[in-house]
Amino acid sequence: MPELPEVETIVRELNHSDLIGKKILRAEVFWYKTIAIPQVSEFLQAIENQKILKITRQGKYIVFHLSLGYLFVHLRMTGKFLFTLPCKHERVRLFLDDGRILYYADQRKFGRFSLSKTLDLMENIGIDPFSKEFTLEFLRSLLCSHSRQIKPFLLDQKYIAGLGNIYVDEALWEAKIHPERLSNTLSERQIQELYAAIPKVLEKGIKNLGTSLGAHRSNYYSVSGRKGGNQYKLNVFRRDGEPCARCGEMIIKVKVAQRGTHICPNCQS
Ligand SMILES: [Zn+2]
Repeated sequence: MPELPEVETIVRELNHSDLIGKKILRAEVFWYKTIAIPQVSEFLQAIENQKILKITRQGKYIVFHLSLGYLFVHLRMTGKFLFTLPCKHERVRLFLDDGRILYYADQRKFGRFSLSKTLDLMENIGIDPFSKEFTLEFLRSLLCSHSRQIKPFLLDQKYIAGLGNIYVDEALWEAKIHPERLSNTLSERQIQELYAAIPKVLEKGIKNLGTSLGAHRSNYYSVSGRKGGNQYKLNVFRRDGEPCARCGEMIIKVKVAQRGTHICPNCQS
């Protein structure tokens, strides 16, 4: 599933694809459930002739700022945008006024488009780790006011937006915190380490153009069809059986809140 660095890479590529200022003349929808809000017929009408003013990201959402509102896209498991006709799994087509078509393909069909006049849909989305609201004070009070296992807590998008299974495992390894530790039991030093670790692992992911897992085409690829390179730079995620880069202990895989979780049992005791 694309997490913050993968979505950020896609947003940057969309911004570099000469889309800003272009109009969406019309759309075609092949899988109705992709359109979450409003109903498909209303969506098709409302999207007509909307100019793309800006494309940004909030958490794992791609936000198209349009002349009369916003198009929010969540890629979920396998959603992707392309400028070339996808061989399979095409769900939506956006026809642009320069003759190009922006295709949306989604093998698993969990991705969703929402079109709205306001930004209200983003109200339930947590703080983005690259926003100015993400301060040490914010993280400290967030952790101290909840008594939840740290891993599922960091995965919960209503508090901090953008982290998924890969980058939470990497951040907790970086900060030497066991994923089952309760959020309000972390020491001040651990809070500070976690505060530094979250942007660190995300920045590394962005620098490496995201993490593409496995060899299958359904996994993450950017708009231009480029694979990420961060899978070769991960410290714990899917590295079970290999030595920890910090201490040499064997990385293990455990289950935390039903999610496959990778830890160094020595560093994260
Ligand atoms: Zn270690």
